[in-house]
Formats: sequence, C-alpha cells, structure tokens
Amino acid sequence: MRIGIDIDNVIANTFEDLAARFNQYVGKDLNANEVVDFMRREKFRMWGYWFVTWRDGLLTRVSLIEGAKHTITSWYDDHEILLVTSRLPILNRQTKKWLNQHEIPYHKLHHSKEREKYKKAPNCDVFIEDNLEECEILADYCDRVYLMDHPWNRRPLKKDNIIRVTSWTELKEILT
Ligand SMILES: [Mg+2]
Repeated sequence: MRIGIDIDNVIANTFEDLAARFNQYVGKDLNANEVVDFMRREKFRMWGYWFVTWRDGLLTRVSLIEGAKHTITSWYDDHEILLVTSRLPILNRQTKKWLNQHEIPYHKLHHSKEREKYKKAPNCDVFIEDNLEECEILADYCDRVYLMDHPWNRRPLKKDNIIRVTSWTELKEILT
C-alpha cells in the first residue's frame, strides 16, 4: 500500500509541546481550537511565527506521539511511506533531522500547501491526518483517510471513507 502520513499532531506532538510558546508569541491564551482558527485567519502573522520556529529550532525538540515510530517501522518494508507536511520548505532540514533523531523510517518527505496534500501524494491507499478539512479533500483521492482524533477536529465526518482513530495502536491493528 501507499500510505500518506501527516507529521504535526500525527507523528509529532507539535500542538501540545508548542502551545505555550505560540500563545506567548501572539500574546494570547488560546485553546487548541482557537489556535487552529488563528493560524488559518492570520496568515501574515503566521509567517513571523514560523520564522521564529525555524530560527529557534523549535520543531527539532518536539516529542514523538506514542506508538508512531513502532507502527511506521512495522509498515516500512511492505508499504510505501510518504510523509506529507504543510510545514514551510524552510523547515525541511530541521524536519529531516527530527525524523532521523527519532528513527522514523520513510520513503519520501513532501512539503505541501494546506488543502493540496493530495497533489504530493497521489493515489494513496491510506492517508493519516489530523486536519478535518484536509481529510475531506484527501477522501476524494485516497481509498481511506484516517483522522487522528484531537479536540480541534471533533466534528461529524461527512464522507464514509474518513475514519476517526484515537491512537497508533488502533491504526496498527486496523492496517496490519
Ligand atoms: Mg497535522
């Protein structure tokens, strides 16, 4: 199978680890939903935030989500693993460094604009993602899309081939 996998909040605990730093940067006290909203609305300010993230190497220090490494490693020999992130390309080196540090095996790493991940990973049998809007688009191009459950995506699923999952252990059971 060709398996597409998002990085932030799917493999990497990005929101949890950087929420405090994000709030400090924007001078607010936003919860998970509000942060996601803010990031979509305030594109211009986000450029500044991503610059600071890059300058300070913040993404090289985020933690790994439990079970991700074990499950992806178990798939690696038999499946094509495409990592598809909407991180800016400037973060490519730091992203690779982090993946190497945590020994996450993959065949390709793509940077994509939001809502265009299907272009970078065409015809995936499976895609694993935490952004519900992205999932709804990917569902038209992939056989099955697994939505990693988070507070910001708890809305009804509109397509039959989008399946909510709560952990990598669950994904491993489904896809092994
Ligand atoms: Mg994500």
